[in-house]
Amino acid sequence: MAVLGIDLGTTNSLAAYWQDGKACLVADEHGEVLFPSVVSFIGEEGLVAGAEAKKRIVTHRKETASSFKRFMGTDKRYQLGAAHYTPMELSAMILAHIRRNAEYFLKEEIEEAIITVPAYFNDKQRSDTKMAAKIAGLKVERLINEPSAAALAYRMECGQEDATLLVFDFGGGTLDLSYVECYDNIIEIIAVAGDNYLGGDDIDRLIAAYFCRENGLVMADVPKRGVQNITDTEEGTKTRLSISEYAALISCAEAAKCRLGQEDEVEITVEAGGRDYHVKLTDDILFEICMPLFTKIKKLFLHLLKDAGARVSDLTDLVMVGGSSRLGVVKRFLTELLGKKPVVLGETDKVVAMGAGVYAGIRTRREDIRDMLLTDVCPFTLGVEVWRGRGDVQNALLPMIERNSTLPMSTHEYLVTVHDYQSEIRVGIYQGEEYYAKDNLFLGEIIIPVYPKPAGQEGVDVYFTYDINGILYVEVVNSQNVREHILLLGQELSREELARCQQQMKQLMLPPIMRKENQELLAKLQQYYGNSIGVRREQIGWFINWFVYGLQSKRFCAMTRAVETAKNQLAAWRKQEGMAEEELFDGELKQQFVKEWEEMGLEEE
Ligand code: AMP
Repeated sequence: MAVLGIDLGTTNSLAAYWQDGKACLVADEHGEVLFPSVVSFIGEEGLVAGAEAKKRIVTHRKETASSFKRFMGTDKRYQLGAAHYTPMELSAMILAHIRRNAEYFLKEEIEEAIITVPAYFNDKQRSDTKMAAKIAGLKVERLINEPSAAALAYRMECGQEDATLLVFDFGGGTLDLSYVECYDNIIEIIAVAGDNYLGGDDIDRLIAAYFCRENGLVMADVPKRGVQNITDTEEGTKTRLSISEYAALISCAEAAKCRLGQEDEVEITVEAGGRDYHVKLTDDILFEICMPLFTKIKKLFLHLLKDAGARVSDLTDLVMVGGSSRLGVVKRFLTELLGKKPVVLGETDKVVAMGAGVYAGIRTRREDIRDMLLTDVCPFTLGVEVWRGRGDVQNALLPMIERNSTLPMSTHEYLVTVHDYQSEIRVGIYQGEEYYAKDNLFLGEIIIPVYPKPAGQEGVDVYFTYDINGILYVEVVNSQNVREHILLLGQELSREELARCQQQMKQLMLPPIMRKENQELLAKLQQYYGNSIGVRREQIGWFINWFVYGLQSKRFCAMTRAVETAKNQLAAWRKQEGMAEEELFDGELKQQFVKEWEEMGLEEE
């Protein structure tokens, strides 16, 4: 039975599967691989999805729903015919449509899928996506983030194991930037930034505005959003486009924009008020037109780098994803911004689906593909309710795992009593970004007895562990070593799964530096330090610092790199006992440490 990888997109969705050592796309009976994410109601036939529904967007607007992914996780309702549907139900129809096509195409039954979602999707958006799949009869063990899928496709295509990527996903209405690190078999999202109102549609509007400026026209009164730079100061003397003329201009602008990929110069002609108006478009002109949009992208990019604690020079590659990434001017802008040429993996609108197909191969445990670890980011903050002090009227939320943290993640806090001789502590667990605990989503609580003492003299250790399957494990331990725990946020688990999960969580609860195998590595490094003198001892000390810093970085790639490098270094030392001091580290490794050290602002005095 095949496992499908599905890119459930805002405009189009795609499905891929793993065969003969590569990911392949599913096509419909016309050979089309893009399944429009559109649902329409046709009287007696009922609801139809995909290409057939897309044909009705203009002719039957009221009975047709599109772009509903934007409202996933909300209770927004779309009326199609007599009934109302949520974005989750509409997505289920798209998934069922894709499933039927894939079963026909592959001539086998499909029960399982890997679905991609934007990295910033919150818990509700993710669980609604899973529910949509369930309604469509698909089992979904895991959702994967779109940038991780793009990075996976990059790994397959370029064979590069170590890379730091900017995944630039530029669609019709959204821009998502992700800073992704790849190391060995790990793909880790370090930071994400995006704008839900910035996309190729804005370029169409900017071209339309340019067309009007050049021809002395005034645009119709359409709701403005995204980037607009038209000034309507001399409106009175100019011809105003009607709504339908403006709609025609927008669709000509989009067509012209797409043609610029094949032609050096494109002419846009639109009729308004009984007269034809023209404008010429070249890459240079479009580059100028898009400047306000590029300025916004640059700001987002700098924000991303700040969140990732990185510099432009840290990026080794740029992976472009999404329909609007096909534009030559976008590539040119990014090449100038980053000082390097982007990696364009086949067609930009298929990259995420291909990555999902690769992951489908991993899921089926095919021998021709290596297992990969895709980390997730926690899209919202998780914390506990605490009393901050006398000034506060209500209890506040103390963040334990902050949003955007890489998962799996484990944290610890010590909480003390606030009243004299209180006999128990209640640990209220919440999810959200608000200051007061009550304004966030209540998830659960643990009540644990404590020894009655004056306020502040008794306390409990609180451990939060959040794994890649979205399961939160909270454990509270009092001074008598009494332990209470709770598992939250996960799907319903069987008794055995629960026990297994709990066991895994316990492993994760220990900070990496405290784990047995890492402690052993550290002890060996320290032994080498003790047995050495002079420059050699100094170098080993410096290496130990680097190792500990890596383990405390809370970054998966950095931790794994620290452990792997320490293991390799120890093996090399064992082999080269008695070597000359200057050979202690190979040149490349040393250079790498010096660079990282400097970047952390930790150069040796
Ligand atoms: P997506 O949401 O990824 O499907 O991207 C849709 C956006 O990509 C729309 O704004 C399209 O106008 C744009 N697009 C599609 N094909 C091209 C192309 N060949 N050149 C430029 N933009 C394109």
